[in-house]
Amino acid sequence: MIRRTRDFIKITNLEIYAYHGVLEEEKQKGQVFFVNLKLYIPMRKPGLSDDLKDAVNYDEVCTLVVDVFTREIYDLIEKAAEKTVEALLKQFPAIEAVKMELRKPDAPITCKPEDVSVNIYREWHKVYLSIGSNHEQALGYLEEACKRIQASLYVKNFRQSAILQTKPYGPVEQPDFQNGCVSFETYMEPEELLAFLNQIEAELKRERVVRWGPRTIDLDILFYDDWIYNSEVLTIPHIDMQNRMFVLEPLFELCPYFRHPILGKNVEQMRAELMQKSVAEE
Ligand code: ATP
Ligand code: MG
Ligand code: MG
Repeated sequence: MIRRTRDFIKITNLEIYAYHGVLEEEKQKGQVFFVNLKLYIPMRKPGLSDDLKDAVNYDEVCTLVVDVFTREIYDLIEKAAEKTVEALLKQFPAIEAVKMELRKPDAPITCKPEDVSVNIYREWHKVYLSIGSNHEQALGYLEEACKRIQASLYVKNFRQSAILQTKPYGPVEQPDFQNGCVSFETYMEPEELLAFLNQIEAELKRERVVRWGPRTIDLDILFYDDWIYNSEVLTIPHIDMQNRMFVLEPLFELCPYFRHPILGKNVEQMRAELMQKSVAEE
C-alpha cells in the first residue's frame, strides 16, 4: 500500500456568494454556497517546529478558494469543485489529497431537501513511465515528450533517468532504440493519463504501422501507485516490464526499491533476475 498521511486541516462551511448554475436566473442573481474542505497534509514537522513556514497557511487556502470560486461561472457545481481542488493541489505542494464538499442549499429543485452537495476526493498519484524512440532524432523526440508531460497542469515532481541505447525488441529489423524512464506525480486517472500520453505520441507523429516496429516515440505506463488495473485499453503494471532490461535498467536508477504489486519483487530484484536469466541463456 502507498501510505498517505492521515493528518488533515478541516475548513468548515466557508460561505461564498457566487453565480454557478444551469439556469439563467442562477447566473444573474447568484446564491450562497458553502465549502467544506479536508486538506491532507503531514503535520509532524510543523507540530515539532512551531514554525508557520513548515505549515500550510489556511488563511491563504481560503483566499485561493474564494478567488477560484468567483473568478469564473460554471453550469455545474461538479466543475466548480473540480477547479477549486485542482488549484489547491497545484498551489500548495504539501497537500497530498483533498476532500471537498460543495453545498448549494438554495439549489432550485422542486422537492425541497434540506441541503444538496457534491463531494469529491482527489490525490496525487506516483507514476512511472518507460519512454523510447528509435527515430534518427530520438533524443530530440524524448526531450520534447518530456517537456510536454511537464507542461501539464496536472503534473508535478518530474524526474528523468539517464537515456540508454538499446537493441530493438521483437522480430522487426530496425535501428537501435534510445530508452529511459520518467517519474512524476499526477491526479489524472489511469485512462485519462493514457489518453494524455497517446495524444503526445500522436502530436509527435507516432504512427502505429507494425507492433514493436520503428517509432518516433513510445510512452508506456509501468506503475501507477501500487494499483493493479486492467481494462480493454490499459494494463497496469505494464504486462511485460519484468522481461525488458531497457525498462528495468533506467527504472532501477529512479526507484530500485519500488515493489511490483503482483510479482512482489522490487525493481532491483527484477533486474538482477533478468540479468541472471540472460547470462544463463548465453
Ligand atoms: P508494448 O506495450 O509491448 O511495449 P507498444 O508500446 O509498442 O508495445 P503501443 O502500440 O504503444 O504498443 O500500444 C498499444 C496499446 O497498448 C495502446 O493503445 C494501449 O491502449 C495499450 N496499453 C495497455 N497497457 C498499457 C500501458 N501500461 N501503457 C501504455 N499502453 C498500454
Ligand atoms: Mg512499448
Ligand atoms: Mg506503447
